[in-house]
Parts: sequence; C-alpha cells; structure tokens
Amino acid sequence: MPQDIVVIGAGVVGISIAAELARNGHKVRVLDRKGVAAETSQGNAGAFAFTDVMPLAAPGIMRKAPKWLLDPLGPLSIPPRYALQIAPWMLRFWRASWQDRHDASVAAQSALMDLSKAALERQIAATDGESLIQRDGQLQLYEGEAQFRDSLPGWELRGRYGIRYELLRSPEEIAEIQPGLHPRFTHAGFTPDWINTTDPKAWTEHLARAFVAAGGEILSSTVRSIVQDGERVELLCEDGSLTCDKVVVAAGAWSHHLARTLGDRIPLETERGYNTTLPAGAFDVRTHLTFGAHGFVVSRINGGVRVGGAVELGGLKLPPNYKRADVLLQKAARFLPGLKTTGGVRWMGFRPSIPDTLPVIGQSPKAANVIYAFGHGHLGLTQSAATAELVRDVVAGGSCAIPLHPYRVDRF
Ligand SMILES: Cc1cc2nc3c(=O)[nH]c(=O)nc-3n(C[C@H](O)[C@H](O)[C@H](O)COP(=O)(O)OP(=O)(O)OC[C@H]3O[C@@H](n4cnc5c(N)ncnc54)[C@H](O)[C@@H]3O)c2cc1C
Repeated sequence: MPQDIVVIGAGVVGISIAAELARNGHKVRVLDRKGVAAETSQGNAGAFAFTDVMPLAAPGIMRKAPKWLLDPLGPLSIPPRYALQIAPWMLRFWRASWQDRHDASVAAQSALMDLSKAALERQIAATDGESLIQRDGQLQLYEGEAQFRDSLPGWELRGRYGIRYELLRSPEEIAEIQPGLHPRFTHAGFTPDWINTTDPKAWTEHLARAFVAAGGEILSSTVRSIVQDGERVELLCEDGSLTCDKVVVAAGAWSHHLARTLGDRIPLETERGYNTTLPAGAFDVRTHLTFGAHGFVVSRINGGVRVGGAVELGGLKLPPNYKRADVLLQKAARFLPGLKTTGGVRWMGFRPSIPDTLPVIGQSPKAANVIYAFGHGHLGLTQSAATAELVRDVVAGGSCAIPLHPYRVDRF
C-alpha cells in the first residue's frame, strides 16, 4: 500500500532510498539542510568497491595502529583534542577486531556487497545511468615480495567469497594495466569487477533527478527531532513540523544525533577523509589505484585525477587540516612520476562509521515506523543501491534479500 514517507538526508544513501521508494509507488519527500550531495557524497573517490569485504577492525589492527599514530600526518590520526571523546568507540572497534566478530563481519559485508553489485546494475538500468559509470577495475599495489606475501591470505579469503582477481608479480605486468607507476610497485592484485562513477556528485544528482521525475520532492529543512505520534511520526524542524507514516534516517555522520532524540544510542563516529582533485590531463589514470600501505587511492574523476584517503578520528567540529591532503598528493607524485600536481582543489569529508565497519539498516527498536540507514563508513556509495532495496523491503514489511540481523541497530 502506498505510504507517506520522509527521508532525512540527500546524500547518495538518502537519495537512492527515496528514488527506490518513489519507484515503488510511495509518496516520498526528502529533507536536507544543505541540498543534494552537499556533504560526504559529493567528494568521495567514486568507487563502487565491491571487493572491499574486509572490515577495518581486523585482528592485529591494534598492534599496527600505534605505529601509524606516531606520524601526525600518517594514514591514521587522532587529534589530541578528540582522543578522550573517541575512546568508547575505539574500545568497541577493538572488540570488533577479535577473530570471531571479524569473521562474522566479513560474511555480513560479503552478503551486502553481493546485493550491492546486483542492485547497482538495477539502479543503472532503472535510471539510464551508464554514461556516469566507468568499468575499469582496480589495482591494489604492493612494494616488494614481503608486502605481497602478507596480502595473500586476504586474496584467498576474497576468492572464497567469489570475488574475481588476478595477481601480478612484476612491474611489467602492472604496466600493461596502468603505465607510469614507479617501479617500487613490484606486485599487485587486479579486481576486474570493480566499478567507478565518473563523479560521485553528478551520480547523486542524476539519481535525484530520477527521484523527482518519479514524483518525489526535495525540501530544504533542518530536522531537530523525531517524535512517534501513534501510527504516524512527527518531525520537528527548524522551520515548523510535519507528520508522515514513516521516516527514514539517512543523515550520514549526523544520524546518531537524530536517533538520540528517539532514545536510540548508536556508536556512530566520523572518520574524516581528505583529497585533492586535479584537473583533466594531470595523469592518464586507467584504473582505480589503491596504495593500501599508504592509506590512499587515486581515481579518475571527470577526466581529472582525485588523490585521497586518510583516516582522521576528529569528530564533526574540529577544523580540517588540509596538510593531510597535501601529504597524500606529495606521495602520489612520488608513486606516479608524471603526475602534474598543479591546479588541485582540496576537500575534507565525514565518513559515517560504526565500529564493526557494517552499516545500520533496520527499524528503530523504539519506533517501528522509523527506519535507520546510515553508518556505511568508507562504502556509502558502494552500498547505496543495496541499502535502498533493503529499506524498500522493510517499508513493505516483507522479507529482505539478505538477513538484516548483522546490521541491526541494537547490536552493540
Ligand atoms: C575521502 C573519502 C573518500 C571516499 N571514497 C569512497 C568511495 O570511493 N566509495 C564509497 O563507497 N564510499 C566512499 N567514501 C564514503 C562515502 O562518501 C560515504 O559513506 C557516503 O557519502 C555517505 O553517504 P550518506 O548519504 O550516508 O551521507 P552524506 O552524503 O553525508 O549525506 C547526509 C546528508 O544528511 C544531511 N543532514 C544531516 N543532518 C541533518 C538534519 N538534522 N536535517 C536535515 N538534513 C540533515 C546532510 O546535510 C547531508 O546532505 C569516501 C569518503 C571520504 C571522506
């Protein structure tokens, strides 16, 4: 039966959900305080990273982390002013890295990735979006035999989950896929089924146009709190209030503040990430390049080059430290000797992250007509189409394509 639904958040997750619900005949309004793709969804690396099934919270991570933290501009940092605040989240992150929980997270992530891959193809077809898609695969690069050998158990695990890959064992083999890399990269894993968008902002705007064409509305408003009102839900906004049958909270790194107004406490933190986007002609990037040991990636965006990554556990309020973007660009220039580094635009975004690397998808334990869909961390673009289908099925009250148990709100 058609329902009156409000989605809070016009990032790629909220817009994907709204478009899927509108396609299924519901009356849907999206509320966002800033507009479409105005936050994290605008500047990410543009990867549908279906092969990234390994959670960040992995066994041994807490042994490696202190070494990374010693370098204030290294791949992982915690600004001293935020160290105390992040401590409870870090404790949960550490618990999630234990072998039993890690294995359960890999299984849940893989199930969500399989659905994400299929759901993206349905989304591309439904919105006629192929012109915004690049199907060039991804190279994970390694420096030397030892680093490559360490990566092999991860590749075997991916293989067990049906991920296609090819291992490359010389700079010459790598150059056949991506010429111009420094020969220090001696080994690589290539995942041919990895997909990128030409521009994550343009992709979200494209989905928003499809949503509006299907009868949806996008309104500018800041939601302050959510109140259950019998069978309906009331949203108290900065400029008034509105009621509806169901609410979907897809407000990215800010979602836990809204959940809190209903009484749900969710351990959502932000992993701030940085990048620089260089103009067209900066380098001939032929596939998505992942420099895992250095915590950054290089992707082709609108014919230009985006160099970005890093994890800064610094919350939502501290000012950005763009030196982090500069350090990544300097490294990229060393690894891609022909890279032209002038004319870049720097950016920082807030990844919405849950300690076990899995998102929250499902009904609020406090109000069945409030559905949560956030916390996708490094993978919000990748998992947006699948999240939309899962939310559609929750709204319909039927069964979902995969069990929602691993993503439930009250798993902590
Ligand atoms: C450097 C970097 C690189 C990344 N690369 C990739 C990648 O290659 N692939 C990938 O899959 N993911 C990547 N990510 C992660 C990805 O960008 C995020 O997971 C994703 O954008 C989250 O989308 P979202 O819709 O949940 O949140 P957002 O895009 O942040 O949208 C949330 C929206 O909610 C609105 N909002 C918040 N609170 C309120 C309120 N109270 N009232 C009204 N509106 C509100 C905000 O204005 C915002 O528009 C990357 C992230 C970073 C930082």
